[in-house]
Amino acid sequence: MNARVRQEFERIHGHAPEGLWAAPGRINLIGEHTDYNDGFALPMALPQTAVLAARRRADGLLRLHSAQGDGRVTELRVADLAPGAVPGWARYPAGVVWALRERGLPVGGADLHVDSAVPAGAGLSSSAALECAVAVAYEELYGLGLGRPELARVAQYAENAFAGVPCGVMDQMASVCCAEGSALHLDSRSLEVRQVPFDLAGHGLRLLVLDTRVKHDLADGAYAALRAGCERAARLLGLPALRDLGEAELPGALGRLPAGLVPLVRHVVTENARVTRAVDSLTAGEPEALGPLLTEGHASLRDDYGVSCPETDLAVEAANAAGALGARMTGGGFGGSVIALVPAAATADITTAVTTAFTQAGFHPPTPLEATPSQGATRLA
Ligand code: ADP
Ligand code: MG
Repeated sequence: MNARVRQEFERIHGHAPEGLWAAPGRINLIGEHTDYNDGFALPMALPQTAVLAARRRADGLLRLHSAQGDGRVTELRVADLAPGAVPGWARYPAGVVWALRERGLPVGGADLHVDSAVPAGAGLSSSAALECAVAVAYEELYGLGLGRPELARVAQYAENAFAGVPCGVMDQMASVCCAEGSALHLDSRSLEVRQVPFDLAGHGLRLLVLDTRVKHDLADGAYAALRAGCERAARLLGLPALRDLGEAELPGALGRLPAGLVPLVRHVVTENARVTRAVDSLTAGEPEALGPLLTEGHASLRDDYGVSCPETDLAVEAANAAGALGARMTGGGFGGSVIALVPAAATADITTAVTTAFTQAGFHPPTPLEATPSQGATRLA
């Protein structure tokens, strides 16, 4: 992969890159739709990464090419970058350069070529992988002295304000902060993180990722509406964010909210509590105890938050019926991927059961990937 990316960079840009960087996609074990409520999450990095080759340019041009793009080089003037001005995939990398300049940092142009193994649009955060690869490359090339959480904030700001996607900070924090062999306990308010050892193989477990390959159109508008609903509920409750509502206070708080906001608040509060329980289980060396939390989390996303869909519900049901310890959709929802925690010996049976269920329902069966907790963004060469 590295040699191919370097060669392609040379072919496209006509000179050698100054370096190669990689940033991973992620799955989120538990803690969904909590990040924009200042809450908790427990993502882990995937082995699949976006690999980026980069070289600074002195003429203020940003020249972008992707192995997964349209084959063309997108050429932009760094000084002219503005939200809404860059269409298509280039808005993610260009947004990072714009966001760095918005912070007053002295960054200029570059030649970039990216080749990513993170499936795009599968809820595995290919967008964050791409942004974070650019962020870490720029950090080093331009000697910015930014810490990892600051880079995640820059990448999130790029996605929010430049690419126009109102995501929380979890995807970017996972891509830059995860460590091999661990899940990342993230506090989305303080951006404090703790590495929580997650030993699957040692417990005879595997984590399967089932990409349903559906992305329902309502995703973007619905996400913004859910986010606004949560913010409104927090205001009505007189709290800075829903993170500030504990499980014990939930029944009382629900009675003070309009009916439409009740299920949203119930999901966020119980989901934050599930993150704490999941962290406790992993810390106690009992990763199998994660199983029921995954399934509970899925039910909450399906019944209270309303972001699952027939394909993700079916994958969860079929995997659990065939012996998974637990399963849930991961990522924002309305399609995307399901994760299933499975006994290693049952992997083939569970995969077959999901394939059969999908075929019978007339859905395209997912091709399972295996997720192992992998390292966050890094320099390769
Ligand atoms: P996810 O982050 O879950 O994969 P998104 O819709 O947030 O889904 O991001 C997918 C988008 O990110 C793609 O449509 C594309 O614009 C961009 N993208 C991600 N990876 C690449 C890549 N390697 N090359 C070009 N564009 C990419
Ligand atoms: Mg994304």
